[in-house]
Amino acid sequence: MLTWSRKEDVVGLKAPKKEKRVKKENRTQPPVEARYVAPKPKIATKSPDKTVEIFDGMTLLDLSKRTGAYISRLQGILADLGEKVESEFDSINIDLAELVAMELGVNTRRMHTGEGTNEPRPAVVTVMGHVDHGKTSLLDALRQTSVAAKEAGGITQHIGAFVVEMPSGASITFLDTPGHAAFSAMRARGAAVTDIVVLVVAADDGVMPQTLEAMSHAKAANVPVVVAINKCDKSGADPERVRIQLGSEGLLLEDMGGDVQVVEISAVAKSGLDKLEEALLLQAEMMDLKARIDGPAQAFVVEARVDRGRGPLATAIVKSGTLVSGQHIVVGAEWGRIRSLRDTAGKITESAKPAMPVEIEGLRGLPMAGDDVVVVDSEERARMLSQGRKKKQEKDRLRKIDEGMADELEIKEETPERVEMPIIVKADVQGSVQAVTDALRSLNSAQVFVNVVHVGVGPISQHDIDLAQACGAYIVGFNIRTPPIAITQAAARANIK
Ligand code: GDP
Repeated sequence: MLTWSRKEDVVGLKAPKKEKRVKKENRTQPPVEARYVAPKPKIATKSPDKTVEIFDGMTLLDLSKRTGAYISRLQGILADLGEKVESEFDSINIDLAELVAMELGVNTRRMHTGEGTNEPRPAVVTVMGHVDHGKTSLLDALRQTSVAAKEAGGITQHIGAFVVEMPSGASITFLDTPGHAAFSAMRARGAAVTDIVVLVVAADDGVMPQTLEAMSHAKAANVPVVVAINKCDKSGADPERVRIQLGSEGLLLEDMGGDVQVVEISAVAKSGLDKLEEALLLQAEMMDLKARIDGPAQAFVVEARVDRGRGPLATAIVKSGTLVSGQHIVVGAEWGRIRSLRDTAGKITESAKPAMPVEIEGLRGLPMAGDDVVVVDSEERARMLSQGRKKKQEKDRLRKIDEGMADELEIKEETPERVEMPIIVKADVQGSVQAVTDALRSLNSAQVFVNVVHVGVGPISQHDIDLAQACGAYIVGFNIRTPPIAITQAAARANIK
């Protein structure tokens, strides 16, 4: 069994093939030369980042071709999972395919068959722009016109997304986390939920570094931009200058013959908001956004938090299909049964359709922003998938730490003065975890290497102290309760900052 898996591990991963080639070349070379090939395994450890597409009803042969593992190995893993699949032409369920792929250390992307008719769906919008240009103010102003605010008399809860309904009956879904970190973190995790980016530029300040950064993010994600020139109520406002600046940065504005719409607004005076909403609807119309409505849902988490009474809560946006209360789900590495779904107004709803944000209650643990929501048949399946994903996450995490240390070693050889700062980040909600982590990582320089070894939501725990002690890490807490005395003392004893 041992020799089996070893042999096929090599087959399952791409990079070792290279290693094989290297060996061949080296056969003709003197043994002294051959010793220099030794660092190769480092490349091999990076290959688990390989991602294969899986789908319901794929045959064992399909999976074998995609993962590069022998049929017999796949059959062996399936047998361990209690599934007997005899022929390579037998089809397997998507959850099993994922479990097998995870066992092989390969990442998966779930593909859903285009069955069922595609119907128009609302657009999902993210607000980006330079700091202090008014992203939060704009979201606040828009949120006050949202469905939730109308129903709750202006009071809304921040759950990561909200819906604005237009007089025509059309609606727009806004992601409630401004900034680029959340956008790129979600995208990096394959959760491309944003359809349109609102680029906020202050009329009195003009194009700034983060304006350009936002433009690059949108461009890289192939997401169209609608420009909102904000603070037009100010005396120093000069929208024309902003237009010229944006044009010279290569943004093809409408009034210059391009197709990027520009709207002048004031988030504080709440003017121009209707024009912005209209522009977004028009943009959405041009994009002809559609999604499958029937069938199992595929969704992504945009925000997650723990509520004292209700337990872990995740706000998810459905990409396709319909999410139904009572279903068993796997969310990232967590699982549960949907006890209740609430819309952004906090009202219990039976189901959620594409582009509709809902708060999911009933998860056993706290997922992360960007995690996928997958509907499975049974509790047992949910538990198995969650366990498999947790195991793989842990493996990947250890591998990354190893790589981080190896990279650091390499760097040390070049620039011996570079100091490593292992850091553990704890924050109140997933959004801030990511924002803080990204901010810390941006401090990386030739002198300092910020190595974020662990992140989490919630107060600093004994587990964090243990981990910090094990790797000599600092702990950064953001917006969390002051740790209990026992924890503070333990940290002091272990000399942890
Ligand atoms: P963010 O960093 O992009 O989220 O910016 P904020 O929404 O926090 O806004 C930064 C500052 O600009 C705050 O003091 C706001 O009150 C102010 N501000 C935002 N929008 C407007 C506006 O339309 N007009 C004026 N006069 N001030 C604004």
